[in-house]
Amino acid sequence: MTKPKVGFFGITGCAGCLLSFIFNEDEILDITNLVNLKAFPFIKEVNADDNFDIVFLEGLVASKEDLETLKKLRGNTKILVSLGACACTGCVPAYRHFTLKENYEHLLYEKRERIRDVEPTPIDAHVKVDYFIPGCPPNKKEILSFIKDLLLGKKPRQYTDPVCVECRRNNNLCLLDIGKPCLGPITLGGCNSVCTNGGFECWGCRGPTKDMNLDLMIKVLKEKGFDDKFIKDRMRTFAGLKLPVLERVINAKGNNAKPHNKD
Ligand code: SF4
Ligand code: SF4
Ligand code: SF4
Repeated sequence: MTKPKVGFFGITGCAGCLLSFIFNEDEILDITNLVNLKAFPFIKEVNADDNFDIVFLEGLVASKEDLETLKKLRGNTKILVSLGACACTGCVPAYRHFTLKENYEHLLYEKRERIRDVEPTPIDAHVKVDYFIPGCPPNKKEILSFIKDLLLGKKPRQYTDPVCVECRRNNNLCLLDIGKPCLGPITLGGCNSVCTNGGFECWGCRGPTKDMNLDLMIKVLKEKGFDDKFIKDRMRTFAGLKLPVLERVINAKGNNAKPHNKD
């Protein structure tokens, strides 16, 4: 059997998604026996001009170079997988959309012109993406089972339930009930509720579920005493670009419980 040609690439990001895969040492060796790993930053030569069966791409588009690389990879692979929150939602770097440029432009120094090239955007804003593996960083087990499914000719499962489903299954105390601003009800699970298991609220790094009830989430947070600014900042940290209706919903009538600022 011909081994599928697989490439891992990164555009603007922190390399954390790629490293999360490397650190899974035992299983990565199993996988490399089954695939032809043609590109992996830090390990193998990375050449976007090669042809691939599957490309995993970390990072978001934030420069013309990113966009060129993305388009080249899309043209050179049969399957393109958006790897991690930056690629899937824009993540923290895309928060720039919601801040005043004057607050940060003095920090950009000589990179200013380059960074100004393209508004920070997830990769599906530019090209067709076949699969999404969200998270900051993604769950390494999910990456491996994704690859195994493809090798077995199965369609990889895309998780659709919210974090709350796994959180309940793990018998956690609900953090919303004790007044913490947990975004689990509107966030895609698949991380085994790793944050809430440890008592930390979910910040939404895996992006919103398709059928989320944003209106209800905002209402609950307001009832818990969080104000509009806090809610917007929290929801925009990882997935602001995937919540274009946030401003409208937050200002809607019926969502106006009396908040106090918890900043
Ligand atoms: S999703 Fe998180 S870990 Fe991955 S590149 Fe972006 S910031 Fe880094
Ligand atoms: S702690 Fe968060 S994720 Fe867990 S059940 Fe409560 S709201 Fe859902
Ligand atoms: S619990 Fe929320 S913030 Fe934590 S990894 Fe899962 S989706 Fe991301």
